[in-house]
Amino acid sequence: MKILLRRLAYVATFDTEDRELTDADILIDGPRIAAIGHDLPAGDVERVIDGTGLLALPGLINAHQHLFQASLRTLPPLERSGMPRFLDLQNELVLRRWQEGRFRAADIGAIARAALAESVLGGVTTVADQHTVFPGEEPEPYVEAVIEAAAEVGVRLHAGRGSVTFSRTRGGMIDDVFAEPVDAVLRHAEHLIATHHDPEPYAMTRIVLAPSGVVSDVPEMFRAFADLAAAHPGVRLHTHLHHHEDTRLAQARFGTSPWRILNEHGFTGDRLWVAHGVTPPPEEIAEYAAAGIGVAHIPAADLKLGWGLAPVRRYLDAGVTLGFGTTGSMTNDGANLLGDLRLAALAHRAPRTEPEEWPTARELLAMATRGSAACLGRPDLGSLAVGQAADISCWDLTTVDRAGAHDPLAALLFTGLSDIAALVLVNGIPVVEGGKVTRVDVAAAAREVRALSVADVAGRR
Ligand SMILES: [Zn+2]
Repeated sequence: MKILLRRLAYVATFDTEDRELTDADILIDGPRIAAIGHDLPAGDVERVIDGTGLLALPGLINAHQHLFQASLRTLPPLERSGMPRFLDLQNELVLRRWQEGRFRAADIGAIARAALAESVLGGVTTVADQHTVFPGEEPEPYVEAVIEAAAEVGVRLHAGRGSVTFSRTRGGMIDDVFAEPVDAVLRHAEHLIATHHDPEPYAMTRIVLAPSGVVSDVPEMFRAFADLAAAHPGVRLHTHLHHHEDTRLAQARFGTSPWRILNEHGFTGDRLWVAHGVTPPPEEIAEYAAAGIGVAHIPAADLKLGWGLAPVRRYLDAGVTLGFGTTGSMTNDGANLLGDLRLAALAHRAPRTEPEEWPTARELLAMATRGSAACLGRPDLGSLAVGQAADISCWDLTTVDRAGAHDPLAALLFTGLSDIAALVLVNGIPVVEGGKVTRVDVAAAAREVRALSVADVAGRR
């Protein structure tokens, strides 16, 4: 289908030249952008969408999510809590739900549907999910359920097959019921790649091999995943690196940095991106750049857990690829990427820093678009240019909170009342129009998650 977005008030392309255009058109042909310019001829287009008053950006890319946590938001014990208590409560609640038959694949699909609907409403067009909890001997098809939910909503998904292979009785932080043998994880990962992974441009589904991290996995898991990824184009590696517990426990268990363990076991190179990177030893930052890994900045969870902020300016200065993510909803209650960009824009203005070090609105939006795309290995995403995927998110610049704003991109981050996108397209298909999700019933999706969550809430009051 050919669609013409006509007379967009402002287009920020985040292309190689950082072009920004006013009063511009975007022509979409099938899944790709066919032209960007002024007064493009409508020709044989099937649909013209009025872009008056809209700011258009490349669709935002959430480079780190745990969708299953979206029904475990604002748990009172976690309002002021570090990571050990968060993991204990995750263990307890997921185990209870599973024992009560409320952690079935269909439940995870319902939760993902709601969280993905929330994501597209916020202008997110691609989500990298990491599902890490597979209770029992014969785990349910949780990743498959998330893939199905993403297809229903129309959002692009990089589905992470997570793992826990180093559990509590061996000295880890996660209950044994969630631990799996390396072989079993590999078999399922191979099945997912064979069944769902699409290495082609404009792919809607890719598989990511995403162990929990050095804290919760045995080193053999990293090696096995690295070898598997090497055999499949477009299959990437993802894990947690250098949050406080990761740094601390790697030191206790291996006497070294978790980055050294990952490196020794093949988890490196430009196939890898990591989440958090809050507490890297300063000398490692140049190694990340040289290795070509990406780092997803997750400021909301890093702040909520009391970890502080990742050294974003030092990463940028060193040439490290930086993406942006929300992580799951037990450590960041929402999935509002734009809200987290605003938080980052302000939180990095800490005392004893110079204003020139603070990330700009454009730098942060670049992380959440082409930066995250680079993390995911998607040169076809993250910018608006001819041949790129038609993943386009538009916000209304005529809202009352943006009246008087002088810079549309800064207005998107710093005003804040109108975070819901007016129009979102993924692969040229409108998934949000008029500020409403087009393909799923959002109220019904929310109702399902409320029903799943109510027993936990009752139990904790
Ligand atoms: Zn995470």
